[in-house]
Amino acid sequence: DPRDNFGPTNPPLSPAGKPVDAQTAMLQVIDEDQNFSPQLNYYMKHVWGLTDHGFDYNLVAVFGSQSTGKSTLLNRLFGTDFAVMDERARRQTTKGIWMSQSRDLGVLIMDVEGTDGRERGEDQEFERKSALFSMATAEVLLVNMWENMVGLYNGANMGLLKTVFEVNLQLFHDRNSRHGRTLLLFVIRDHVSKTTLDNLAATVKQDLDRLWSELSKPEGLEDSRIEDFFDFSFVSLPHKLLQPDHFNRQVDQLRLRFTRPSDPHYVFKPQYHKMIPADGFPKYAETIWEKIVSNRDLDLPTQQELLAQYRCDEIAAAVFDAFLEAVRPLRPVLEGGRLIDNLGEQMGDHRRTALAHFDKNASRYHHEVYNRKRREHLAKLNSELHLLFLAQIKNAGQRVLQEFRSTLKRQLGAQGGNGSDYDFGAVVRTATRAALERFEREARALVLDDTDWSYAQEAEQLRGELDVVTDQLRGEELKKVQRRMEKTVRTRFADTVPAVLNDPKPDMWGEVLRGFFDTTDREERHLRATAAGLDLPASELDELTLQAHQLAWEALLARVHEETGDQMMLVRLRTCLEDRFRYDDQGIPRVWQPSDDIDGQFGTAKESTSQLIPLFSRIDTSGFEGELESYFAPDFVVSETLELLPATRQRDLGKRFQREADALYLEAKRSVVATTAQ
Ligand code: GDP
Ligand code: MG
Repeated sequence: DPRDNFGPTNPPLSPAGKPVDAQTAMLQVIDEDQNFSPQLNYYMKHVWGLTDHGFDYNLVAVFGSQSTGKSTLLNRLFGTDFAVMDERARRQTTKGIWMSQSRDLGVLIMDVEGTDGRERGEDQEFERKSALFSMATAEVLLVNMWENMVGLYNGANMGLLKTVFEVNLQLFHDRNSRHGRTLLLFVIRDHVSKTTLDNLAATVKQDLDRLWSELSKPEGLEDSRIEDFFDFSFVSLPHKLLQPDHFNRQVDQLRLRFTRPSDPHYVFKPQYHKMIPADGFPKYAETIWEKIVSNRDLDLPTQQELLAQYRCDEIAAAVFDAFLEAVRPLRPVLEGGRLIDNLGEQMGDHRRTALAHFDKNASRYHHEVYNRKRREHLAKLNSELHLLFLAQIKNAGQRVLQEFRSTLKRQLGAQGGNGSDYDFGAVVRTATRAALERFEREARALVLDDTDWSYAQEAEQLRGELDVVTDQLRGEELKKVQRRMEKTVRTRFADTVPAVLNDPKPDMWGEVLRGFFDTTDREERHLRATAAGLDLPASELDELTLQAHQLAWEALLARVHEETGDQMMLVRLRTCLEDRFRYDDQGIPRVWQPSDDIDGQFGTAKESTSQLIPLFSRIDTSGFEGELESYFAPDFVVSETLELLPATRQRDLGKRFQREADALYLEAKRSVVATTAQ
């Protein structure tokens, strides 16, 4: 709104966009049709600049018969520009209620339509309404009257004052209400007689007392005195036309009562203030007027409460918008998974600011309402901040979990990773404690006072997630140990198994099995040591051990199958036959003589060698059955893994061996023929 940017070169504009003089700018608050102006708020804010004044503003209203020089006086006193009746035309100028600001900023002046109705014999409805309105808002009521009206008890003035007193009783039942007293400042015009002001004042006061005593008063206020509600002050002014200089000097004097707090007659005493904060004044005035116009009961304390609710809500809403604006940038950061440093402090600051702004304006309103609205406001701020809180602790949990994982990996890696020489459990326990403490620290720093925020559930969840990571890492550690073990047994079997099988003896399988148990026992001890470090439960350890046994057995089988492949077997059989046929008992190569029993020797050697085939056809576990059975998980049937050479393969192998043997026999025969021929 361009009208918001006032400055020395930008005069305020009226709502219609025309420049206005902030001093003399008037607003017809109530028009001739008794409508309330929708522009009061605008004038308060932009033209008169009073909205931020809190209680630091004053309101004066003028009352008195038509054409008693009210507007003339106001204009001289306050520098306002209220319309003055044209001397020649004699037509009424002020319609409804006009409002303007005095030259000394901070004082609002209301020029209230006179008592035409009474003088013209019309009903006094508007008089009553404007009196109600003035009494509900103004601190000082200027009562304007000619000197020659003083003492006219049945004159228009007294009727007017009767109305004022009546509405006052209607509005301010409670003598001790905050909406206390009002100052009636009588201005006696055209004081030309020799009667002193004191005497004039005394006469007026007498009439007022009489008026008061004749009023029918509401219950509980029957014995109230006029002084319980009003203070009185009297001043008179010379004839404006006959003694213009004197008149002006006296008005200048009178002005001091409004402008100089040290003046003994200073009018704006705190007890007269109606205690409506300036920012709430337009709304208050409007509501009051609506009630007055619709002739509904007007109960000011209730009005104050309603105003307080309305304004506190408005203030809270504006403050909350600013607050949302301020915290808005935090959300995407958190939603991106990042942590915000000092978020707790930042949230606290934002909340403090939002509360301070609320307090600054709202605390001027009805106290209970203000306190209730403050609690609501605080709850709203808290619930908004709680979202940030939740997002941040979620991120903190993730961060802590990540760090926990990498710390553990680093530490486990650094501590060797070769199994048993570090205490996995101790490392994990330390890291877990550190992670939970870190989370606790982060979360605790986020909890604002005056909230019921908790992170117990999130801490519990984190604990569970840390356990999952721990289990994972433990699993990885175990895998490492298992792989290492597998490798060890393979290497070992690659040495021992061929050594035994290449020197076949009836007990060779016993030897193989003894080697198997030796090797696996040693590895099992190693495994158990590692598992103890991993805090592995006994049941898991047992299962792992059985698994390890099976893996070792499978490694053994793999080796044995390799050693009993066709080629390996043929080579082995052939080597055995050669050993037995071509070498004598001392291991010396035979040179065959014609006299030698080649056929017999050959037959024996072939026969004993052939018997190796059944020996190799199956792992013979005699003597180890019980031990083997308990060595594996129940679902692993070790007996089904023992067969090496099925019958067909044995036959096939036998045939192929036969051919090789035949070749060897022929070679031996040929060598004898060759020797004989020489
Ligand atoms: P209002 O209707 O009470 O606001 O009276 P106005 O201020 O419009 O003045 C009505 C008439 O009284 C105008 O013609 C003024 O010039 C005249 N007037 C204003 N002040 C005085 C005064 O102190 N004495 C006399 N005799 N006439 C005044
Ligand atoms: Mg006037």
